Amino acid sequence: MIQRSHEFLDTAPLHELQNSLGDIDRKITFIDGFYLQRIYSRIIDKNEMQSSHMHVIFEDNLVCTHDENDKRYHARPIICGSPSIISIAGIVEGPAKPKGYYFKQMLKDLLSLNSKEIENEFADSYVSHEDPRLVPVATGYAIQAVFFFLTNGNPFCSNYPCRLFNSHWQEELIYTQVIKPVLCKDHLGILAKANEGFSRD
Ligand SMILES: [Zn+2]
Repeated sequence: MIQRSHEFLDTAPLHELQNSLGDIDRKITFIDGFYLQRIYSRIIDKNEMQSSHMHVIFEDNLVCTHDENDKRYHARPIICGSPSIISIAGIVEGPAKPKGYYFKQMLKDLLSLNSKEIENEFADSYVSHEDPRLVPVATGYAIQAVFFFLTNGNPFCSNYPCRLFNSHWQEELIYTQVIKPVLCKDHLGILAKANEGFSRD
């Protein structure tokens, strides 16, 4: 099983660490997000580095960043900047699944359940690989990448629901990106203002 972001050890190598994604036996690599961003930035045409251009990369591998406070790597669904990187594996592995999921996985032997049964029970409450809900969720992160530039680097929102809400739980992510994918009043206002600016140019 792949470890969730907060469980990565400080000693884990950054590159080429192969993780098996449980039952589907999928291999992924986890990569330092800022390192990856630097590599991609070098291949962007110099004429497209201005704010009038925006580059978004959808990455299959797990993108992580190192937190100096807790000395651990954290999975990131998105690294904003030039380019912005949206990690599909980061969407799956970053935000936490429901507490009941972890509780049952921990006690599955006592409860006489297997992992598959628990995954099926909670399937609606988290996105998985090959999940069609990944499309609207990744779209939400692309919107966040746009707002990173519209808000001078502050794309997260504390209003719930809003597509820019910083979801720490999969259920929040599904609600804000799939069930009720709306922008809050504040961010609709920022978008309208930006649109006026673009119309004048
Ligand atoms: Zn908002």
